[in-house]
Amino acid sequence: MKCALVTGGSRGIGRAVCLKLADMGYHVVINYKGNETEAGKTLLQIKEKEGGNGELLRFDVADKEDIKNKLGEWIAKNPDKNIEVLVNNAGIKDDGLMIFMKDEQWDSVLATNLDGFFYTTRMVLQGMLMKKYGRIINIVSLSGLKGLPGQTNYSAAKAGIIGATKALAQEVGRKGITVNAVAPGFIKTDMTEGIDEKELQGLIPIKRFGTAEEVAHAVGFLASPEAGYITGHVLSINGGLYS
Ligand code: NDP
Repeated sequence: MKCALVTGGSRGIGRAVCLKLADMGYHVVINYKGNETEAGKTLLQIKEKEGGNGELLRFDVADKEDIKNKLGEWIAKNPDKNIEVLVNNAGIKDDGLMIFMKDEQWDSVLATNLDGFFYTTRMVLQGMLMKKYGRIINIVSLSGLKGLPGQTNYSAAKAGIIGATKALAQEVGRKGITVNAVAPGFIKTDMTEGIDEKELQGLIPIKRFGTAEEVAHAVGFLASPEAGYITGHVLSINGGLYS
C-alpha cells in the first residue's frame, strides 16, 4: 500500500497537505503531538473523499525516543505499508530577541524543527532506499532563507533543514529519492494568528497572506512521480515577499 507520512498533520499546513496527498491516492499517516480532536478531523475529511483513507500516529518529533518507539513500531508492524512520501511539516516558533532568549526557547525550537526532521527522516529513509523510490519534502520558512529578527532560533532551525535538504538530496538521488524544501512566507494558520495581515500586506507583492492549500499544492507537485528530476531545491511560496 502506498503511504504518505505527514508530521504535524492535525492542523494548518499539515492538514491541507494530508488532504492533497489523499487526493493523489495515498493512504495518509497523520502524525500529531497532542491535539487528537483536530487530528481526528483531518482523518474524517480524508475519509469523506472518494477512496480516501488514512490513520493517526501520535508521536512527539522533538523526542527521539518517542520517534524510535512509535514510528519504529509502526514500520515494523506494517510491512505491507510503504512510506513513499514523507512531509516533515511539524514545527513551532517561540520568538524573542536573542539577548532575552531563554535556553528552553532555543532548545525546544531546535528540537522540534531540526532534530524532528533528522530522526523522522532517518527512520523512514531505510524503506525508501530498499524500494529505490521516495519523495521527501521539508517545510521550512522564509525565516530560514532571509533570517527574521526575533527568530534566531527558528531561522537557525529552518536554515539547518535547508542545508540538510541539499546534502541529503546528493546522498540519495541515485536511489530514486528526491529531497526538496518548501519555504512559505506568511500563511493563515494558528501559527500566524495575532500577526496583523493588514499591517504586512503592503510588503507583499500579492497583497495578502497565503493559504495552507496553496502550500499543499506545491507539496503535491514535489511529491508527484513526475517531479523526479527536481531535487535539492527550495521552493518559496511567499507572494513575492522575498526571492
Ligand atoms: P500550526 O501551528 O497551525 O500547526 C502545527 C502542527 O505541528 C500541528 O499539527 C501540531 O500538532 C504539530 N506539532 C507541533 N509540535 C509537534 C511535535 N513536537 N511533534 C509532532 N507534531 C508537532 O502550524 P502551521 O501549519 O502554520 O505550520 C506548519 C509548518 O509550516 C511548520 O513547520 C512551520 O514552521 C512552517 N511555516 C509556517 C508558516 C506560516 O505562516 N504559518 C510560515 C513558514 C513556515 P498538534 O495539533 O498535536 O499540536
